[in-house]
Amino acid sequence: MAKDDLHCSFCGRPKSETNLLIAGMDSHICDQCVEQANGIVLEEVNAAKQQKGAGGLKLYKPQEIKEFLDLYVIGQNHTKRVLSVAVYNHYKRLRQKTKDEVEIQKSNIIMVGQTGTGKTLMAKTIARLLDVPLAIVDATVLTEAGYVGEDVESILTRLLQAADYNLEKAERGIVFIDEIDKIARKSDNPSITRDVSGEGVQQALLKLLEGTVVNVPPKGGRKHPDQKFIEVNTENILFIAGGAFDGIERHITKRLNMQAVGYKASQDGNRVDKENLLKYIIPKDLKDFGLIPEIIGRLPALTHLDPLDKETLRSILTEPKNAIIKQYARLFEMDGIKLVFEEEALDVIVEKAMEYKLGARGLRSLCEAILTDAMYEMPGTDEKALLVDADYVESKISQSGLRELKAVS
Ligand code: ADP
Repeated sequence: MAKDDLHCSFCGRPKSETNLLIAGMDSHICDQCVEQANGIVLEEVNAAKQQKGAGGLKLYKPQEIKEFLDLYVIGQNHTKRVLSVAVYNHYKRLRQKTKDEVEIQKSNIIMVGQTGTGKTLMAKTIARLLDVPLAIVDATVLTEAGYVGEDVESILTRLLQAADYNLEKAERGIVFIDEIDKIARKSDNPSITRDVSGEGVQQALLKLLEGTVVNVPPKGGRKHPDQKFIEVNTENILFIAGGAFDGIERHITKRLNMQAVGYKASQDGNRVDKENLLKYIIPKDLKDFGLIPEIIGRLPALTHLDPLDKETLRSILTEPKNAIIKQYARLFEMDGIKLVFEEEALDVIVEKAMEYKLGARGLRSLCEAILTDAMYEMPGTDEKALLVDADYVESKISQSGLRELKAVS
């Protein structure tokens, strides 16, 4: 082939019309085609990245999410539904391809409910299903920058740690902020004294919740001043806040009564369920409690948890996939011992848990108190079974320190 006959095998241009013709095994490509091909490659790679944008996350439908929650969490159907939808929408948002479409805002969540009703468990279960890192942080330790305590960035340090410092994983993880109610504004007049632990922290949290790039000290705050910062983008991190909001019922009642004086509530004759006022909660109540409106706006999915009644506590003991009784049975089984609880024994445990007002958390303390002696004494002996009846439960509880627990609470 004469030199002049050379042409681009892609567009057919003769060499004379190109700036550069690159030779391959038995073909050639011109500079323009290289550029074009490069464009195609970039586009494809980007599209693939965006597809994976959610990091190859499987998109679970809300009903699938709820079904999974049902395996581990008893009751709390309302919260499960709200949570399933919020999580579904969040991960749909991550999959949104181009930004010029309607921009979907984050669906961060706030759960209001007494301690021990399953808020943390719910967040943990969601993280387990999605296989994303989860950081659980306590809002009470957070302070404004410059004060004694942890800066809000420490939340992201935890998330990085939970993700084994894999930045991509951390950036689509879940942060559970517990005790968010403890950073509520204490006084109605914020200008009188600086509210170190309250409003300032809420302000600091705002940006994080909304989505921003934060310089995060990977080893955590102030003890390691020389470390290199890692830039973490919080745009795709799902924030779930939880709190007991003790006393918020006051605001709810006040609001409901005001309505009753009007026309709506009294007309339809709907009785207010005084045992579970939280189910009437609306964002305004959070504001009256002391959360700033901006924070409330960034936690748009608001839901409440029901107090745990006897029946629910009873189910919690035995039904979830990793129910407390199943866990103890497994522990005993490892020593070749068959652990059996009589029905009445379980009833007594539930009654005591109600008495101590510790929610489901009390169940574990009670079981621990009941079984500690056996777990200490039985391994290594010839005994192959332990039958726990009501008397056994009563006697172990009365010997244990749990009685003092009751006195304190
Ligand atoms: P919270 O965060 O609301 O204070 P947790 O989620 O930490 O409470 O609950 C404490 C423990 O009680 C959990 O680890 C779990 O064993 C049990 N628990 C609480 N609520 C439920 C529930 N609805 N279903 C199953 N277990 C529960």
